[in-house]
Amino acid sequence: MSGVELIDIRELKQIFRPDLKKTLSAYRAILRSGKLSTPIIAERKSMFVLKGAEVLEALKLLSALKAPAYVVDGDEARIRRISPEPEVLEINDLLRLHYAGHRLPQEDFEVEVPREPGQVEYSLEDLGASWKRDRRLLKVYESTLELLYEGWPTPLVKLSSYSSGGRAVYAKLECFNPFSNSVKDRIAWSMIVEAMEAGALKEVLYEATSTNTGIALAAIANILGRKARLFIPRTIQKCSDTFLRVLGAEVVRVPTTLTVEAVNDVDAMARRDGVTHLNQFENDANFKAHLKHTARELDEQLQSIGIIPDFIIGGLGTSGHMSAISLYFKSKYGEKVKLVGVQPAPNEIIPGIRRIESGMKWIHMVEFDEIVDVRRDEAIEGALEVARKEGLLIGLSAGAVFHAFKNIAANPGNYVLIFPDSGYKYVEQFENYFERQAKGSHDER
Ligand code: PLP
Repeated sequence: MSGVELIDIRELKQIFRPDLKKTLSAYRAILRSGKLSTPIIAERKSMFVLKGAEVLEALKLLSALKAPAYVVDGDEARIRRISPEPEVLEINDLLRLHYAGHRLPQEDFEVEVPREPGQVEYSLEDLGASWKRDRRLLKVYESTLELLYEGWPTPLVKLSSYSSGGRAVYAKLECFNPFSNSVKDRIAWSMIVEAMEAGALKEVLYEATSTNTGIALAAIANILGRKARLFIPRTIQKCSDTFLRVLGAEVVRVPTTLTVEAVNDVDAMARRDGVTHLNQFENDANFKAHLKHTARELDEQLQSIGIIPDFIIGGLGTSGHMSAISLYFKSKYGEKVKLVGVQPAPNEIIPGIRRIESGMKWIHMVEFDEIVDVRRDEAIEGALEVARKEGLLIGLSAGAVFHAFKNIAANPGNYVLIFPDSGYKYVEQFENYFERQAKGSHDER
């Protein structure tokens, strides 16, 4: 009997500071052989590791869950300090030094126990360090397109700072889509696939976009050997041109305030030039992509934690994602789920979203319980608050969604916020906001 048992690694505590070189040498040896043969020696009462600090450290680095340990009574161990002064210590002296905050480098101590445990043989699998060898779980993809659709669902994360007192708040992070880092990857893919299946995808794509759909289309066009020409309103941040040019797309700035105002001209140009205009504003593949994927995966994610949402809040651009989410959740759960749409207040510009009266297709086929107006600075301040409380750099339309949530957050219940993208494309707007704050002025732009 070796007296060695497998112990939950969380029960073992380090009293000695493991030496990095020794740790790496243990790590290499275990990884190379796939086995561990030297058990750790631990003190029974405290579960402090008396011998093998480097082995425990190596096992933690290998994500092991268990460690083979030989447990001895404190008074059985002979502990000698060799540096700075040689001295013999009792286990209690050692614990006292530890709790007094002394650093106890492993190499300064020698520990002997009356009976050394024999050699053991545990594989990494025995120690719970085996990885699930499923390429999907391990996020291995066979193409960049697969990275998109096999990457779903996008994460749903609890915003802990806002979840208390009968309220739980979850955010769906669409920035985890790989191309535009936004909700728009889903529709670009779906519109292109539908056009390909109908044999209607030409060599060149034209699209009016406020950036995200353009980036997603340009990226997927590149993968499929197509070209994209994108029409962007003058009100959109300058860096969008750079992103699109990096992707090799052609960028045309149009003198409109809203993207949708350019659609008729883009349509006429596409017909004239014999190219494909997918038209996210009218193309049902937009709405259907969110019905089939976004809404359904959100429901499954919520079901996995036993939640039916009380409120789902999201921004309105084409109205594609929120209309689909409304249709899905109202059909399945009825009036229990309240749908809140977010639009910019009159005369305010928030990239990606616009006012319902500017014309949206699918919103008129579904039900919303409330539409909230948000000003640009409220959206920016929403983004700042989320960054400062939750560490997430969200985009301006996500900031607007967050602001709308704050307006209705007095009600208890489960809230879901759809965050369409991250903050990185909006440096200009953030910089401008900080400058205006510094000047104390309320100038436009
Ligand atoms: N937020 C951002 C940043 C967007 O780019 C968009 C759409 O362009 C939206 C919100 C609105 O999404 P939808 O078109 O599905 O209404």
